[in-house]
Amino acid sequence: KNIELKKFIDKDTRTQDGVTMKILANISSENDINLMLENGGEGIGLFRTEFIYINSKTLPSEETQYKIYSNIAQKNKDKLFIIRTLDIGGDKSIDYLNIKKEENPFLGFRAIRYCLKNPDIFKAQISAILRASTYGNIKFMIPMIATLMELRSAKKLIDEVKNELESKGIPFCKDTQIGMMIETPSAAMMVDRFVKEVDFFSIGTNDLTQYLFAADRMNEQVAYLNSSFHPQLLKVVKDIVDCSKSNGIEVDICGHAGENPYLIPLWVAMGVDNLSVSIPSILAVRQQICNTNKKDLAPVLEKVLAFDDAYEVEEYLKTKFQF
Ligand code: PEP
Ligand code: MG
Repeated sequence: KNIELKKFIDKDTRTQDGVTMKILANISSENDINLMLENGGEGIGLFRTEFIYINSKTLPSEETQYKIYSNIAQKNKDKLFIIRTLDIGGDKSIDYLNIKKEENPFLGFRAIRYCLKNPDIFKAQISAILRASTYGNIKFMIPMIATLMELRSAKKLIDEVKNELESKGIPFCKDTQIGMMIETPSAAMMVDRFVKEVDFFSIGTNDLTQYLFAADRMNEQVAYLNSSFHPQLLKVVKDIVDCSKSNGIEVDICGHAGENPYLIPLWVAMGVDNLSVSIPSILAVRQQICNTNKKDLAPVLEKVLAFDDAYEVEEYLKTKFQF
């Protein structure tokens, strides 16, 4: 089985009827890059930079971050390298960042919310990313955006840092793209406005599900609500993808649902551009997509969206596709 999979290492990800996608990797450290390349990753769709902070006893300096981002970019050659800015808070806390204990951390001071209130920390990261951008195909990705104001504020800070670098004569890639994660229902509902102000979307289905269903993703008691088979989730994802397509921007999935073999036919049918998955899944996802025909999947998607509940979707997909 492994030998079969290895054949897909250098292959493009292309359906039988010629639709291409990219299978990217979710990584959390510089150490992941070799494994990612050995597993045929076509780039990095999500670098969870919070792990740089989590693994450090003190605030990581701009210089430390610059080295990490530029090292990864160099090893990754000119492949896509999407760097998610600090997504801290929620379940991931760090002593030196002084985030107070919260009643509802997943609804609290996390990710972009924290970064906008701590512009010095945010700007150091932005500066490190921009400086590394001369080494590869780097893109910014902003997590947990809920309002246009947040997005605009983040973009304004990126512009400020660009001006500062420019005035110091420090090189960076001027047209570094800026994308956002869609993982709050409020962003999903206004996707038609956000689409005008970003270069790409990446759907964070883990958080999007938790927030759509108001169900803590860490709480076993409500795990049935955190299923990716809910027609509500699938409908939202389809709306986001449709909107991205009609506005000509790229749309990726970087949550766990992106690598679920029963759901992959739906992502193909919708026209998702890239799937960013955990490293051990890359080749299996590519193999599966290479064996599908997009044309056959439209009726499957239509059928799934007409179901009333997750268990029906799951039952149907598990009967139709056997792995
Ligand atoms: C997500 O929410 O789907 C996601 C990819 O981000 P994280 O799991 O790191 O919150
Ligand atoms: Mg998330």
